[in-house]
Amino acid sequence: MEYIENIQTEDKTATIYTDSQMSLDSFKINTNHTFFSEEIRKKLAEIGTTNWTIQFCWVKAHVGIQGNELADTLAKEVATNVDLIESYMKVPKSVVISELSEISVETWRREWDLTTKGEITKEYFPVVADRLNMNINIILKFTTIVTNHGNTSSYLHRFKIIDAPTCACGSSDQTIDPILYECALINQERESLIPTVVKTDVWLIGKKHLIRKHYQPFVKFINKFFINLLTTLIYSNNSAIICNNTCNYY
Ligand SMILES: [Zn+2]
Repeated sequence: MEYIENIQTEDKTATIYTDSQMSLDSFKINTNHTFFSEEIRKKLAEIGTTNWTIQFCWVKAHVGIQGNELADTLAKEVATNVDLIESYMKVPKSVVISELSEISVETWRREWDLTTKGEITKEYFPVVADRLNMNINIILKFTTIVTNHGNTSSYLHRFKIIDAPTCACGSSDQTIDPILYECALINQERESLIPTVVKTDVWLIGKKHLIRKHYQPFVKFINKFFINLLTTLIYSNNSAIICNNTCNYY
């Protein structure tokens, strides 16, 4: 923008491209008074008086767009220039935090898109941003159900802690899908979830929509049963009784 301000030209229109959606949003929103957004507004107002028309446009980062790559390189050079500490100090902490947050979310998104791990968790949370928009109470059982890392038979069997991956109901291996959708031992508990889901969706609903659209009933459902009991029942000659009230198992 300083360059625009100082050049002499007949055509007074310009487009500024940026890969930072957060920056674009920050100076569009009038209630945002960070140092950065205020500086941009101030500069726009100054340039506006010289009849310039400036528009802003978002571009995807790290996909080889020449101008964007050049801007990144220059930004890195500036960031690593020890002689410019004073100018860096003028940036408020809030801007540094939000920029770092944006970078870390983008890194997380890229790694999540590329990884072949977390297959089950990806079914619940295919998009990192969607997960970040949710306020989730992380407890052990929740983690087990969204990762299959915990006290399910299939997981314990994988690590040779128990002899078989089978569920106590005997119909299948005890993995997450049977627990959510099929296991007859928790039909009654599941009945509390299904009517809520079918008000707006169909049953069987996919995990992504189940957790995003029906988070509260989903959590209520998983809190109604005890995975340990589903796991261990088969090893006690069917003499154990499924208990919904008094067990201390999670
Ligand atoms: Zn079962």
